[in-house]
Amino acid sequence: MKTPYYVIDEALLGRNLELLASVRSRAGVKILLAQKAFSCYATYPLVAKHLDGTTASGVYEARLAAEEMPGRENHVFNPAFTVSELREVLKYSDHIVLNSLPQLALARRVCRGKASLGLRVNPGYSEIEHDIYNPCAPGSRLGVPREFLKADDLRGVEGLHFHTMCEQGADVLARTLEVFEAKFGEFLPQMKWVNFGGGHHITRKGYDVKLLVKTLKDFRRRHPNLEVYLEPGEAIALNAGTLVTTVREIVDYGMPIAILDASAECHMPDVIEMPYRPPLRGSGQPGEKKYTYRLGGPTCLAGDVIGDYSFARQLKVGDELVFEDMAIYTMVKNNTFNGMPLPSIALRTRLGSVKVLKRFGYDDFKSRL
Ligand SMILES: *Cc1c(COP(=O)(O)O)cnc(C)c1O
Repeated sequence: MKTPYYVIDEALLGRNLELLASVRSRAGVKILLAQKAFSCYATYPLVAKHLDGTTASGVYEARLAAEEMPGRENHVFNPAFTVSELREVLKYSDHIVLNSLPQLALARRVCRGKASLGLRVNPGYSEIEHDIYNPCAPGSRLGVPREFLKADDLRGVEGLHFHTMCEQGADVLARTLEVFEAKFGEFLPQMKWVNFGGGHHITRKGYDVKLLVKTLKDFRRRHPNLEVYLEPGEAIALNAGTLVTTVREIVDYGMPIAILDASAECHMPDVIEMPYRPPLRGSGQPGEKKYTYRLGGPTCLAGDVIGDYSFARQLKVGDELVFEDMAIYTMVKNNTFNGMPLPSIALRTRLGSVKVLKRFGYDDFKSRL
């Protein structure tokens, strides 16, 4: 197969899903796949075996889940639905989460009891440092803050939703729930469900699963009338895929630089947005091993840099490099800036064979313009 390509590892994905399924049964909660992180639908049958369904960021993801994970729960949230979008998601979604009071008024009129309506609230508490990922930052458009909510606003609402976490532990959820209950607890007796959003890094090494289960069970004991949902994205496919790339060229202008056939900007945009340094198989921190290189992409963007990595031996043109943790927030964010080809997508099955799911070509670039 020609690089660059992603390989999703079914066994590793399965391992994540088994852990999530055990949380689900031990804590008595429901867990949904947040498709925006990972919507490689070839794996949806496996996901469906372990989880309760999906959540979507809008019409297309909701429809994808309806088509590829039929019969399971289908939730959708969007900051601002149009009337026609609401009519369309009604065909797919059993739970629709609205982001504001005017959206709620619209949904009451359009949905007329055909879906369970929820309202996203903003508890005004989060422990996220990067504001780009902080829905509780000043001026946030996401969720209704407590002081803007009156009891009779919640007419027809069956669920409250918050999403305020990002790659965080169960301790953050516990502290968030304290604030959520202090502010919104008075509304909970009239609700059927609550949704604690995503950002639960449950499948990360060292995550305190016990504390999560205890926190969820304690919450359920305080609110036995409520169905509790979590909707992680990252945690579903964390560390369950790689991006295989090839060194195309090496230059040295004061430091050795390897230009790869994969681009940070096009194929791993979170490296630039988040920002973070993706793990690279067999490499070390800069200076840790004998040969340090800056790894960059083949686009014209000066900042298309994946990071600085060191190796035990010198890199040469044609070497394959394998980036880890490339299943989440990659394929869903890929773009063809600079006319860059999209990487193929493959699945390593549990039996060890590799199956190509998708190949892309020139038409995928041209057809979008
Ligand atoms: C992004 C998002 C998620 C998933 O978040 P992860 O960090 O990938 O777990 C869930 N719910 C909502 C509303 C989101 O915006």
